[in-house]
Amino acid sequence: MSHHPANMDATATCWSLRRAWSVLRDTNPAGTEDGLRSTVWGTRRGVGSHGDPTADTASLTTGARRQLADTVRENVDSARWLATSALRQTGLPVGPALAALTAVIGDLDPATAHEVGRHLARADTAVRRALRLGDDHWPLPGNPKCPACGTRMLRARTSNPDRAAWPVICGAGCWCTGMSCPCGMDVKVRRTPHIWSATWAATTLNLDITVEATA
Ligand SMILES: [Zn+2]
Ligand SMILES: [Zn+2]
Repeated sequence: MSHHPANMDATATCWSLRRAWSVLRDTNPAGTEDGLRSTVWGTRRGVGSHGDPTADTASLTTGARRQLADTVRENVDSARWLATSALRQTGLPVGPALAALTAVIGDLDPATAHEVGRHLARADTAVRRALRLGDDHWPLPGNPKCPACGTRMLRARTSNPDRAAWPVICGAGCWCTGMSCPCGMDVKVRRTPHIWSATWAATTLNLDITVEATA
């Protein structure tokens, strides 16, 4: 599992899409033609107070749903194709596309991971916009400062059912300046948005985001 920011970002986006997609699917039990229906979403154990997303699907017409499913399928197909090409030796694991992608994104070369992430982000944005879902960002408890830009907008991305894998991003959207950057990312890459691991949050911010905060 690469800690390159491109891989971490694409993995988080893939989970975000899985989550958004499952919401769409659950509100559309009659839909049988989406082609991604079998995407497996795990149980959401241990995710707490910030709540599960609720969708506003009342305004979605059948045509809009179909169009949305097409957008998702096209982008996921592109992402799958990119990943499969990059993994010529091993290929993608058998199974639903998004689950397979989640399993391999961490092992892709960063450039491919970035491209895969862009396609998944397009699908994720389309679904979340249509369902008025909002993103999966959770403000960190205590509102700590971003070590790179100093603003207090650090957010965990919460779609992964495994809290230990929640990455942290800066809501101000600051970018890495490379080796001399004070961000403390495991892999510093110039001109990429900052994204940190939960382990980083524990060691640098002294904040354990893997446990449920007690309000
Ligand atoms: Zn920042
Ligand atoms: Zn940096």
